[in-house]
Amino acid sequence: MHLTQRRPLIVANWKMHKTLAEATHFISELALRVANSTVEIYIASPYTALHVVANGCLSTKLIVGAQNMNENDQGAFTGEISGRMLLDAGAKFVILGHSERRSLYGESNELVNKKLKKALEINLKPILCIGETAEERERGDTVKILTNQLRYSLLDLSPEEVFNLTLAYEPVWAIGTQQTATPDVAQEVHAFCREYFMQEYGADIGHKIRILYGGSVKPDNAAKLMEEKDIDGLLVGSASLSADSFEKIVNYSKVGK
Ligand code: PEP
Repeated sequence: MHLTQRRPLIVANWKMHKTLAEATHFISELALRVANSTVEIYIASPYTALHVVANGCLSTKLIVGAQNMNENDQGAFTGEISGRMLLDAGAKFVILGHSERRSLYGESNELVNKKLKKALEINLKPILCIGETAEERERGDTVKILTNQLRYSLLDLSPEEVFNLTLAYEPVWAIGTQQTATPDVAQEVHAFCREYFMQEYGADIGHKIRILYGGSVKPDNAAKLMEEKDIDGLLVGSASLSADSFEKIVNYSKVGK
C-alpha cells in the first residue's frame, strides 16, 4: 500500500466578480473563520484585486492566485497580463485551461501547454483544468477527450515539472449548472487521471499529484465528494462568492453528511 498523504486543497474561483472593497471584506471574514482549518485554501482573484487580496492574506492561511495568464514575459500584447506580473502582485498560483477560457476565448491545448511551461519556469504553481462537454460524454468520448487534453496540455513536461502542478477535473456540463457530478462519476474519472499520471510519469508522481473536482460544488455535496479516494480537493465557482458558503465547503468535514 502507498502511504502518500495528499493534503486537501480547496480553491475559490471568483471569476469576474468582486470589487476591491468586496474582495477585502471577504478575505477578512473568511480568514478568521478558517483559522483552524487543516486544508489548504487558495483564492483565485480577478487581476485587479490580486494585490489587495495578497496583502489581506498575509499572516492568514489563505493563498492568493490568478485565473489566467499570458505565456510571454512582456511585450506588445494589449490587455494581457504575464505570469511575472502575477508574481509581482503577490500571486502564488494560476488556474490554466479553465473551460471558460477554452470555450469562450478559444484556448487550445497547445496554448495551455505554453502557459503551463511558463508558469512552471517562473515558480507560479499551475492548476490545469480539463473536462468533457455533455455531448462528448453522451457519445462515450470522455476518456478520449481527457487523454487528449492531458497529452497535449502536458506535452514535453518532465516528471519533475508535472509533480509541481495540480490537476482539476471540471466536467463542462457541471460548471455553473447545479448538475454536480455524482461522487461515483467523479471518482471514476479521477482514478483514470491518476492512472494516466502513473503510466506516463511514474507511480510516485501518480500517487502524489493532487486531483481536484470542480463543477457545482456546494456546502451540501462537498463532504461526499471529498470521501472519494482520488478526490483531493475542490475547485469552487459560484459557491465561493460568499464567505458563508465557501467557509462551509472548506470545513466540509464538519458539515452534516
Ligand atoms: C468553475 O468555474 O471552476 C466552477 C467549478 O464553477 P461552479 O462551481 O460555479 O460550477
